[in-house]
Amino acid sequence: MSSENKNTDDNNKKGNDKRLLLLLAIAALVFTVSLNYIIGRKSMSDVSEVKYSEFIEMLDEGRVEEVEFNNSIINFTLKEDEEGSSGVRKEYYTGYINNPELLQKLDDHNVTYDAPPNMTNPIVTFFVEFVLPLMFFYVAVMLIMRFAMRKMGGGFGKSNAKMYVEKETGVTFADVAGEEEAKESLREIVDFLHRPEKYTEIGAKLPRGALLVGPPGTGKTLLAKAVAGEAKVPFYSLSGSSFVEMFVGVGASRVRDLFKDALSNAPCIIFIDEIDAIGKSRENVLGGNDEREQTLNQLLSEMDGFDVTKGIVVIGATNRPEVLDEALLRPGRFDRRVVVDRPDLKGREDILKVHLKNVKTSDDLNLKQIALGTSGCSGADIANMVNEAALRAVREGRDRVIQDDLMEAIELVIAGKEKKDRIMTEKERKIVAYHEVGHALAIACQKNTQPVQKITIVPRTMGSLGYTMQMPEEERYLMTKDEMLDDITALLAGRGAEEIIFKNVTTGASNDIERATELARAMVTRFGMSETFDMMALEKENNMYLNGRTSRTCSDETGAKADAEVLDIIRKCHKKALDILNENIDALNKIAAFLIDEETISGEKFMEIFDEVKKERGQTKEDTINSNEDIKDTEAHNQ
Ligand code: ADP
Ligand code: MG
Ligand code: ZN
Repeated sequence: MSSENKNTDDNNKKGNDKRLLLLLAIAALVFTVSLNYIIGRKSMSDVSEVKYSEFIEMLDEGRVEEVEFNNSIINFTLKEDEEGSSGVRKEYYTGYINNPELLQKLDDHNVTYDAPPNMTNPIVTFFVEFVLPLMFFYVAVMLIMRFAMRKMGGGFGKSNAKMYVEKETGVTFADVAGEEEAKESLREIVDFLHRPEKYTEIGAKLPRGALLVGPPGTGKTLLAKAVAGEAKVPFYSLSGSSFVEMFVGVGASRVRDLFKDALSNAPCIIFIDEIDAIGKSRENVLGGNDEREQTLNQLLSEMDGFDVTKGIVVIGATNRPEVLDEALLRPGRFDRRVVVDRPDLKGREDILKVHLKNVKTSDDLNLKQIALGTSGCSGADIANMVNEAALRAVREGRDRVIQDDLMEAIELVIAGKEKKDRIMTEKERKIVAYHEVGHALAIACQKNTQPVQKITIVPRTMGSLGYTMQMPEEERYLMTKDEMLDDITALLAGRGAEEIIFKNVTTGASNDIERATELARAMVTRFGMSETFDMMALEKENNMYLNGRTSRTCSDETGAKADAEVLDIIRKCHKKALDILNENIDALNKIAAFLIDEETISGEKFMEIFDEVKKERGQTKEDTINSNEDIKDTEAHNQ
C-alpha cells in the first residue's frame, strides 16, 4: 500500500557510506605505499641472503664484483653470475657488521663500492614510518568497530533510529472501515495539516498531539497512516519500544533526531507507536529506568518546543493508556484522546467489505452472518480471516471465495486449524461427541442463549478436541444476569453429559470450567449480581484494552466469601445442566450417535433431530425450557 517507503536513516547512511568509502580508499593507499616501502626497489631482482662470513670468504676469493652499503644491509653481486633470462642480475645481501678492515679488503680486491645517498628526508621518513602505520591502524580499528556496532544493532550513544518516513502513505480513511467516531476526531487534524493558516489566523490553538487508544489490531496504526494520507503529508513513524535500548541516552537522541528531521519537512505527522513503552508513569516503577525517563523527558520537551504553526501533529498509539505518565496527557501534549475500539457489527461488516474488495467472491455472500459470527474480533482478525478464506478457496480448487470459506475461516481464527491426522480412539470420540452434544442441548433448552451454529468433533490445532459453535442473531452490548447464568450452565453441560453417560469424568472440560468460573466470578465481583455483596466492586479491571486482567480490591475475608458465592453459582448451574440433560437423555443419545458418524453437524440438522425426538416424546418446545427461577429462589434464601 505504501508507495514510497523511504528510510530517513538512508540519508544518514549515505553520509556514513561516503565516509566509509573515503576511509577505505585511504586504507588501500596506505597499504600499497607501505607494501612498496617494505619490498623496496629490490622487488624485481633475484635476491638471496648469505652469511657475513660467507661474504668475506667470497670477497677473499675475489668473486665479488660490486658492493652497495644500504643502511644496515650490504648488497653485492658476484662476478660469475651472468644476467638471467629476465634481464636481472642475481643479487646477494648480508647484514652489516662494523668492520674497519672491510673497506681495505674491498680496495685490495678492486671491488667497486658505494653507499647510495639517503634520498628520503626525515619528514618523509617520519611520515612513512610513523604516521602511515598509525593511520592504517586507526582505519582498521574503525572498520572493526563499525562492523561490531552494526552487529549489535545499536550505537555507542549514536542515534541509529529505526525511523521510517513515508512521503505518501497512500492510505486514506476509506481503507479504515468502521471507527467513524475516531475518523471524525481525526478529520480536524487532517484539515489543520492541509491549511494551518486557516486556524492560526483566527487565533485558534492547534492540537499538538492526539493519542489513539484501543485494543491491539483495531487499526490504530492504519488510522495514523490514513491521517497522513488524507492530508498528503509525510509520515514519520517510530515505535516506542525501539527508543528503549541498552545504552542510556540513545532514546533521547532518537527523539531529538526525529523531531529535527520532521521539523525540516513540516507539515508532517509524527507517529509514535506503543508509546507506553516510553511514556510509562515515572512513579511507582521499581528502581526506575534512567533510559526511559530520559527519553520521556526529551519527548516532553520536544513536544513543548516545536512551532505548532508549521503544521506538525504528533500521534501516539497505545493499548495501555492507564499506565501513561500524567505529563504526557496534559493539555498541549497528547491532550486529544481518540478511542479506537473493537468494531461493532456494522463496523465488522464494513471491514469485511474493505478486505474483500481485492478478493474474488461469489455473489451470494452473506456478510452480515460472518459479521455476527466474529463478535469481539478486531480488524486485524477479520483481515486475517479473509485471507484464510481465500487460501481455503485456492486449496479447494475454486476460483472465488464462497460463504463456506469465510465460515470455516472464522472457526480457524477462533479455534485453530483442523487436525485431521490426529487419531482419536473410538472411546474418546464417543466421549467428545457426548460432551459437545451436552453443550448444545443445554444451549437449545435454555431461553437466554444464542442458537447453535455447528457441532464438530474434529480436533483443532489450538487444543480443542471438538466444539460447539454458537451464532448470535444480533449484536449485543449488554448481558443480562439470566444470560450469564444460562451461559455458565451451557459451559458446564459438556462435563455433565460425560457424568451421566459414562459415570466418569475426563480432563476435557478444563477450558469450560475456566470460562464458567470466570463468568461466575465476574458476576460476583464486578457486575454486582450477587445478593451478598450488593453493588460492591471486589475487583477492578487493570488494562481494559488488553487481556482484561483484574486485581482484587477487597479484604481477604471478603474474598473468601466471594469465592464461596462463586462456588455456589457454579454448583447450581452444574445441577441445572444435569437436570436438562437427564430430561433430554433420548435426544442426547440420538444426536451423539449421529455426530459420531458424521463428525460435524450443522445447527439446523441438530435442531431437526432434537425436534423429532421431542415430537416422539409428545412434548412441546416450551416445556423443555428451564428458567433460572429456581436458582434465583435459592439465592434469595441465602441472604
Ligand atoms: P493496531 O495498530 O491497532 O494494533 P493495525 O492498524 O496495525 O492495528 O491493524 C492491523 C491490520 O488490521 C491493518 O493493517 C488492517 O489490515 C487491519 N485492520 C484493522 N482495523 C481495520 C479497520 N478498521 N478497517 C480495515 N482494516 C483494518
Ligand atoms: Mg499498531
Ligand atoms: Zn466443552
